[in-house]
Amino acid sequence: RGDFIARGLSRIGLAEPNAVVHAVEDVSFDLRKGEVLGVVGESGCGKSTLGRMVAGLLDPSEGEIVAQASGATTGALPMQMIFQDPFSSLNPRKRVSELIGEAPRVHGIVPPDALDAYVADMMDRCGVDGNYRDRFAHQFSGGQRQRIGIARALAVRPEILVCDEAVSALDVSIQAQIVNLFMDLRDELGLTYIFISHDLGVVEHISDRILVMYLGRIVESGPAEQIFADPQHPYTRALIEGVPRLERRRTVYAPIKGDIPSPIDPPKGCHFHPRCPLAQPQCKVERPALRDIAGGRQAACHLIERPAKKEISIG
Ligand code: SF4
Ligand code: MG
Repeated sequence: RGDFIARGLSRIGLAEPNAVVHAVEDVSFDLRKGEVLGVVGESGCGKSTLGRMVAGLLDPSEGEIVAQASGATTGALPMQMIFQDPFSSLNPRKRVSELIGEAPRVHGIVPPDALDAYVADMMDRCGVDGNYRDRFAHQFSGGQRQRIGIARALAVRPEILVCDEAVSALDVSIQAQIVNLFMDLRDELGLTYIFISHDLGVVEHISDRILVMYLGRIVESGPAEQIFADPQHPYTRALIEGVPRLERRRTVYAPIKGDIPSPIDPPKGCHFHPRCPLAQPQCKVERPALRDIAGGRQAACHLIERPAKKEISIG
């Protein structure tokens, strides 16, 4: 715990027909071995882009991504991504043995004669009976398919799993099982996670630290417990205070007043100012930097050094 293993640093411009969208801008963060780093924010905040960049699926057009995974296992791929939809990420015409076994075979992670047993073991670890490895993906339920997707990711011996809405498409009871599987795998294999979700209840449950993103920037980061108990940034406060405390914990963001501005033409100054109940004249012109605040936390808000007395209410 606590070992620094990766640092993401990015400034990315994604070409749109007539504009450059800065989907993720000046985002810099540490990832510590064995932790779950939760990434939250409304849709369009850049959290998926961040995840794909970290996983190496997307190159930043400027800047750099530095990722030093320490494991030197031959052929191992240090980062793997788990997506929301197990239906679309698994080819229905392939047998599960191929789906899981292909990458380890191609990358020489397992000798050919050990591959079959390896695939069955990966499935068993992920809670799908390895004896069913000759079946096709469409013969499994949604929850089982997500387990197969996880087994496929684990088969290349990653150190880091980037989970992008990995449980969002599943029934609540299945979500809990998959979250528990992630936690068991962390304990068994020492995995590190970047866990991207719009579902604050799941993120609160699973994460050690949190990044809160708004329009492509980190607006707050810190230990999960502290962020949820005492959110500092007005955006984080609105997100968290809007969470209905349901026993089912199917907790999604309550809508925050105002629309999410277009990332093509983001508001000047603080990106959040048109929706912020505490906005000051300064906020419209001056962009707040992400600064260290108390408790090993960071926040980007002009008011945080002189905390407002006003209570935030969301509409
Ligand atoms: Fe609100 Fe200003 Fe802080 Fe932005 S900088 S979150 S507008 S108070
Ligand atoms: Mg997304």
